Amino acid sequence: MIEIAAVLLALGALLFTLVVRRGDLPEAAGGSPAGYLKEKQRTFYENLGDLQFEHRVGKLSDADYEEARKVLQLEFAGVAAAAPLPAPKPAPAAGTVCPKCGATFVQPLKFCGECGAPMTGGAA
Ligand SMILES: [Zn+2]
Repeated sequence: MIEIAAVLLALGALLFTLVVRRGDLPEAAGGSPAGYLKEKQRTFYENLGDLQFEHRVGKLSDADYEEARKVLQLEFAGVAAAAPLPAPKPAPAAGTVCPKCGATFVQPLKFCGECGAPMTGGAA
């Protein structure tokens, strides 16, 4: 009898844990991060379109329109910045960027063609 009670108790605890865990999980926002960004972009353009319409029909003054547009753009810029970036640009080859003046060259050089500083790009 005690064994059955113990099993029921364990089962109850397990079920409780599973149910609570399931409830704690946040909803996946639109699947992938790229999908999330696309959705935000769509919303941004929709809102921008609404703004332009209200401005055109005279519901918004020029100043109000500019202000609201700026806020929208900043908001979207924040979303885009928080989203994962596409593949980073490959680093320039050693000896193609002057460490002194920042001039860039197509071919790796020993000395900068602009300021004459040694191009210590690592592969000296
Ligand atoms: Zn230089």
